[in-house]
Order: sequence, then C-alpha cells, then structure tokens
Amino acid sequence: MASVSAVRKIGAPRLEGKVAVITGGASGIGEATVRLFTAEGAKVIIADIRDADGENLAREVGGTDVARFIHCDVRKEDNIAAAVDLAVSAFGTLDIMYNNAGIIGPRYAIDETPAEELDQIYSINFRGMFLGIKHAARIMKPLQKGSIINAASVTAHTAGLGPHAYTALKHGIIGLTRTAAFELRHYQVRVNAVSPGGVITNIWDTVPDGRKMIGAFATEKPDLRSPVTSADNIAKAVLFLASDDAAYVSGESILVDGSHTVAPTTPA
Ligand code: NAD
Repeated sequence: MASVSAVRKIGAPRLEGKVAVITGGASGIGEATVRLFTAEGAKVIIADIRDADGENLAREVGGTDVARFIHCDVRKEDNIAAAVDLAVSAFGTLDIMYNNAGIIGPRYAIDETPAEELDQIYSINFRGMFLGIKHAARIMKPLQKGSIINAASVTAHTAGLGPHAYTALKHGIIGLTRTAAFELRHYQVRVNAVSPGGVITNIWDTVPDGRKMIGAFATEKPDLRSPVTSADNIAKAVLFLASDDAAYVSGESILVDGSHTVAPTTPA
C-alpha cells in the first residue's frame, strides 16, 4: 500500500518554521512576498539596495524576531553570500531563496542598444540570480532541502512585450532554472521560476513613459481581461512554489499573466 505523507492542517500557516531570503524584497512583488511569507509563518531576510524601505518593512512585519534587512547589491557576490549567511546565523537555516531583484531598462532597437546597458541588466537580472542560486545551493545541498524561486516574466515566454535585452535575459532565467533544478534534484532542492504578467510597481518609474505604458492596461479590480495584476497575485504563486504543497514541482515556470500570452493578440 502507498504510504500516506503528512498533510498540512487546513488553515495552518503554510511556511511555519521556514526561513527565506528575498532579494529585491523592499519593493513591489518582493515586498508583497515578504508580507505574505511572514503572514504564513516564515522568517525572512530582506536583501535589497533600498535601505530605508527595507528597514521599515522589516519593522512593520514583526521586527528582528521575524524579519531582518540586509543591504545587498546582487551585482556583488559577497553581498549575496552575506544575505544567505545571515539567514543561518539569525534564524538557524535556509529553506527558501527568492531571487527576485531586477531592473527593466529602456527599450532600444537591437542595433542601438549600448553594450553597457546590456551589461547592466545582465549583471542584475541574470548574473545576480545565478549567484543567488549558487549561494543558496551552498547552504541547501548539505541540508538536503530547499526551494529556490527565480523571477522570470511573461517576456521569458514570448518576444515583443519588453525591451530586447530584458526579454532575452528573462528567457535565460528559464534555462538557468531548468539546469539548476536538474543538478540540484540529487540534493532534494527544488528550483522553479515565476513569470509575472504586468504589475504596477516602482520598476516602471525607472524607464521613460513606464507608468504610462503599464497604466494604460490597468483596471481597478482583479480582472482576467486586464494584462496587469497586483503584486499580491504574484506573491501567491511564489508562496505555492516555496511551500511543501509544491514538494514535487521542480524545473517549472509558472506564468501568472491571466492568460495574456496564450494568444498572439496580446497588446504590446
Ligand atoms: P520593483 O522595482 O518594485 O522591485 C525590484 C526591487 O529590486 C527593488 O526593491 C530594487 O531596489 C531591487 N533591486 C534593483 N537592483 C538591485 C540590485 N542590484 N541589488 C539588489 N536589489 C536590487 O520591481 P518589481 O516589479 O517588483 O520587480 C521584481 C521582479 O519581477 C523583477 O525581477 C522583474 O523583472 C520581475 N517582473 C516584474 C514585472 C512587472 O510588471 N512589474 C513583470 C514581470 C517580471
């Protein structure tokens, strides 16, 4: 007879006893995830370059017993190493790594894209995530447990929605996720990606006309007809992948875009 595994009690916190690092946790989707994870019983390290926002958020969700902020620029390997090490020294372990920090960059034609622009996006959106996986794996492999989640995007699944460099590198995150999942399966470490559709966050303030671009698609309430959703709806997918409910899910990317990339008529 098949064995019956432990089932979480209905209504019980989904991340009780778990410890997470969330890069880019001081704003937008990362911030929503910090709030949801701590509400679900996790202890969280908020790793970001927005010091004041990160410190305030850590205080707001419960203070040092629940959340700590660390200044972490994901372009710097020692900063990422320090963030995962803080999880262990402050809270005793590392169960979840959410590699979420990212920028978008302006939209250029390929033949006009400055090489430095590509380098900048690469260093945060790809290299930073690679290093996040690397240092999470350093802790998780010997523990034989863990869930790593990487921020991909609808632009990882279709061309034409985002700037060229951003789109190409988000495609790369799917490859990074799959190869890491394959390698780390021997250590019971799962690696997945979440691919959000449009979400109104600070990221859109960093590019010319960003708010106008994303705002044009926004509706006032959750609506599958809108290609824009709330950061909370993305955080819920991250929560699923982080939790034991996804115990056999690895190497996957969950699109949270209200179906907008399934048809070729998606607004650009
Ligand atoms: P956001 O700007 O609100 O949050 C991004 C966070 O990353 C910020 O707190 C920022 O300070 C941090 N960050 C930037 N550079 C960093 C660095 N070098 N080191 C550490 N932290 C750094 O944006 P968001 O929309 O919440 O984006 C989060 C992730 O979701 C990104 O990877 C983004 O590509 C992805 N995403 C966003 C959307 C969207 O429409 N908002 C859609 C698809 C994917």
